[in-house]
Amino acid sequence: MLQGHSLTEIQAALIKGEFTSVELTQATLDSIEDTNPKLHAFLYIAGERALEEAKQADEARHHNVDQPLLGIPIAIKDVLTVAGMPCTCGSRILEGFIPPYTATAVRRLQEAGAIVIGKTNTDEFAMGSSTENSAYGRTNNPWDVRRVPGGSSGGSAAAVAARLVPAALGTDTGGSVRQPAAFCGVTGLKTTYGRVSRYGLVAFGSSLDTVGAFGRNARDVETIFSIMAGHDPLDATSAQRDIPDAGATRAVVKGLRIGVPKEYFIKGIQPEVEEKTRAAIDQLQALGAEIREVSLPHTEYALPVYYIIAPAEASANLARYDGIRYGPRVEANSLHDVYFKTRGQKFGAEVERRVMIGTYALSAGYYDAYYGQAQKVRTLITRDFETAFKEVDLLACPTTPSTAFVAGAHENDPLAMYLEDVFTLPANLAGVPGISFPVGFDRDNLPIGMQLIGPHFREDLLLKATHIYQSATDCHMRVPQI
Ligand code: GLN
Repeated sequence: MLQGHSLTEIQAALIKGEFTSVELTQATLDSIEDTNPKLHAFLYIAGERALEEAKQADEARHHNVDQPLLGIPIAIKDVLTVAGMPCTCGSRILEGFIPPYTATAVRRLQEAGAIVIGKTNTDEFAMGSSTENSAYGRTNNPWDVRRVPGGSSGGSAAAVAARLVPAALGTDTGGSVRQPAAFCGVTGLKTTYGRVSRYGLVAFGSSLDTVGAFGRNARDVETIFSIMAGHDPLDATSAQRDIPDAGATRAVVKGLRIGVPKEYFIKGIQPEVEEKTRAAIDQLQALGAEIREVSLPHTEYALPVYYIIAPAEASANLARYDGIRYGPRVEANSLHDVYFKTRGQKFGAEVERRVMIGTYALSAGYYDAYYGQAQKVRTLITRDFETAFKEVDLLACPTTPSTAFVAGAHENDPLAMYLEDVFTLPANLAGVPGISFPVGFDRDNLPIGMQLIGPHFREDLLLKATHIYQSATDCHMRVPQI
């Protein structure tokens, strides 16, 4: 019950003394213990440490310490480091690895008083769209446990959807915050590339990786975003840019120009997804937004371009897991065999597939044909967005082609899995921010998400528009019965 509240409500209740952080944290741990066997959203639960921090938070409050997240439990995707807690990235190759440092995004939330209650499940090294690629077993969707929660940040999305925590961090390299947000019926923000420090985020595709947040609504997500964002000297790609106040509570949508890209309403999309997305766009229009059709002509190339660039970068980033540094080692007679056996036995199939694709695409004879070509087309995709944002403030489209699928549905078909991200990948290639929020349910009572995409560093516009929609509607309030 305590943890059924939104972040904003919890903040108010703690200040008023309606409950203490120790009570809240204990209640959170109890419901995780109760629910996690059904969902498998958490890989690690911080238990004693979280309670100890809650006790300190209550004492600090007693001494009038004023921090926005003081004593509030949150969950962290297990690709972000928290000093002293295991970090597995959903992989056997990092089993037992305990990082000695904390990711900047997490550290900033901790400095604002947040308590890390645990680490959430992920596709191995964030490669996937269902959290089925985790070496530690899949996560189940709280709306229907036979279905996937989306991925790769499926654990964080499921934990927020199941009301275990008011907010959680995820990462989005090609859709991994927005797609699970859509599948789980929560609000998920993918930030502008460079907006949130990647220090302490285990690298997958370094030119695409972003840290994002899940919450019950745009206001809660804004709270997390504004605390974790901003320049960090520890990440050379983090931007020196101010964070405009979304002013979510007093925002008006009047005059906001929203473009509807025709390339995002393609054949094969589940009819209810299109229907609810269009209805939500109408709703935004009724609230004062100006709607017009726009074109992003290179959209169809986003998928092939992403699946060259992301594996290429991954193959380089994953070279460090060699059995010498980090986690486990498979002993052998020669150095070569140590590498070979450790990587062969500890990496899962999807990771191996990406390393092979990436190594191939980067090899001397094929570099120009694949990687070089992909980078050129990436520029065209980025220009599509630049052109569109001369005419409109935001873009509106579905987040995913369908609602959550049944576990195992794409088991032998990696391409079908890759297609889950057709609507989310372009934003990563261009580095622009996006948000997904629930706009309805299909006939199986599964949530449908819609996506807004904005210009670089305009998270405030995304949060504002989402907040206005959520102030006028209530499907983000529905809670799954687990
Ligand atoms: N599903 C995409 C992939 O498998 C994106 C993953 C992500 O955003 N981390 O690469």
